[in-house]
Amino acid sequence: MSENDILVVGGAGYIGSHMCKYLWRRGYRPVVIDNLVCGHRAAVQWGPFIEGDFGDPAVLNRVFSEYDIQGVLHFAAYASVPESVAHPLKYYANNVANTLNLLQAMVSRKVRRMIFSSSCATYGDVDTLPIVETQVQRPVNPYGRTKWMVEQILDDFASAYGVRAVCLRYFNAAGADPDGHLGEDHRPETHLIPIILKTALGQREFLSVCGDDYPTRDGTCVRDYIHVDDLAQAHLLALERLFAGGPGGKYNLGNGDGFTVREVLDRSRKITGKAIPARVEARRPGDVPVLIGSTEKAVRELGWRPEFSDMDVIIKTAWDWQRRHPEGYADDGR
Ligand code: UDP
Repeated sequence: MSENDILVVGGAGYIGSHMCKYLWRRGYRPVVIDNLVCGHRAAVQWGPFIEGDFGDPAVLNRVFSEYDIQGVLHFAAYASVPESVAHPLKYYANNVANTLNLLQAMVSRKVRRMIFSSSCATYGDVDTLPIVETQVQRPVNPYGRTKWMVEQILDDFASAYGVRAVCLRYFNAAGADPDGHLGEDHRPETHLIPIILKTALGQREFLSVCGDDYPTRDGTCVRDYIHVDDLAQAHLLALERLFAGGPGGKYNLGNGDGFTVREVLDRSRKITGKAIPARVEARRPGDVPVLIGSTEKAVRELGWRPEFSDMDVIIKTAWDWQRRHPEGYADDGR
């Protein structure tokens, strides 16, 4: 038991593992639950690990009994837009129903501080940019709807049970641990930057550019990329605000700036020094043309100061990880 125990659900995954390192560096003990469906055992390096599913009440019971959990950071979710369109049941069952299970355990154990990984996908296709938090949320794919539903559930749990939750609406998480210990390793990989870098390494023949007929400056989709360590910093600030008695809330986390797929590709070619072949293919179902977030609220209210906003630094840290770990984490493929 420790007064510094923080439960990190999904702590073996990409963002969760960076979060654990960040917590550890600041004197907390991250207690990880992960079923290793998307996460990697080798990414859990900073505290105790419980292999199990957060949808399983017995797993949660054990963790809340064995550790003095002061707050919960909830990263465990399926997060592929096209997959959510093809398999909505999988997304609602895990991202929504299992989260209810986690919340039930928290309420019964009187753990009432939660930082929830929400998403810019809750906004849908918007008219006004950059997106501010008060923008109406109209998600256009099942993934975005799962995150939006949990945000509403958390509002109801705040009123009824006193759970204080900070929902952090990430734009596109990218980059890797600047020390090189951790990186992005999804199997299969679906995200733009790691796919580009795997193409640079020759592991893929070409990058499929998913549509070049969007109403954007070069026809490809615009996204707001945010470094994974800057996300971690915002989580800790949000958690410490709850410790200090502050309220829950909803915050965008991005850079306030957008890059097209082609621009990301061009910068990656410069940074890697590789040709990186690309082919324009069909649009991907569920994609919206532009997502750029205003992050003024997080800066103002949480005191967030992103350190790795430069797109070249984001790509470079990701490249350093990919090139040193071309096969990803050296574990058993999980
Ligand atoms: N994208 C692409 N080719 C790929 C993967 C992604 O053109 O192989 C595009 C995708 O259509 C989107 C952007 O890159 O516009 C970012 O996609 P990603 O899956 O990284 O994040 P998302 O925005 O879906 O969360």
